[in-house]
Amino acid sequence: MYVVFLGPPGSGKGTQGSILAEHLNIKHLSTGDLFREILSNPSHALYPQVQVVKEGKLVSDDVVNLVVEDGIRKPEFKEGIVFDGYPRTIAQAHALDRILSDAGSRVDLVIDLDVTQDVILYRILGRQLCPNCKKVFHERQGYTSCPDCGQPLIKRDDDNEETIKQRLKEYKEKTAPLQDYYKNSQAVYIKLTVNDASKTADDVNDEILNLMKQNNVL
Ligand code: AMP
Repeated sequence: MYVVFLGPPGSGKGTQGSILAEHLNIKHLSTGDLFREILSNPSHALYPQVQVVKEGKLVSDDVVNLVVEDGIRKPEFKEGIVFDGYPRTIAQAHALDRILSDAGSRVDLVIDLDVTQDVILYRILGRQLCPNCKKVFHERQGYTSCPDCGQPLIKRDDDNEETIKQRLKEYKEKTAPLQDYYKNSQAVYIKLTVNDASKTADDVNDEILNLMKQNNVL
């Protein structure tokens, strides 16, 4: 099964994407994680092209497709993928359709996380990341190191108020049009509104699984 998560920054795509991938026993692919890896390695060939991440701007479609395409075609991704943060433009969605159709597949399910601005800010400004296993936490949980692997938690460089504004702008202009794109596709389209910051990741995951059952994709 190929699943696309849509939603603004801080909507929980990463957290929900990894829980769902584990549940479905398929791979989780986060383009944001791939770009953060490149940013931590100045000798990487694409290092100059991904500097825009620091300003909250989207990486160019050419670079994104270059990074993602090889990954998707690997044998371990054959059973399916939960895409987190990809596609983010109509051009990327076309590229993904082409890659999957070459493999006799298509996007089966789109999960659109609709999250209010106050929840987004609360989540992003308190967000902590494990640089090793990529799990996402919130300061309210009180961890300083990852409870799973022990690595000290870090803040993302782009999780500040200035950059968030730019990321939300990019989302509205370039990514939100994908909602109509996928509503008009063969994929099952599920929209989930989260307007309560106290909801846990497990609560949201339960709601996603229920909606998937109602739509006969689980
Ligand atoms: P994320 O971890 O999904 O919030 O992504 C972090 C940053 O990586 C974004 O703000 C973009 O700068 C960049 N990025 C991630 N995925 C994409 C994509 N599919 N297209 C363009 N830029 C991306």
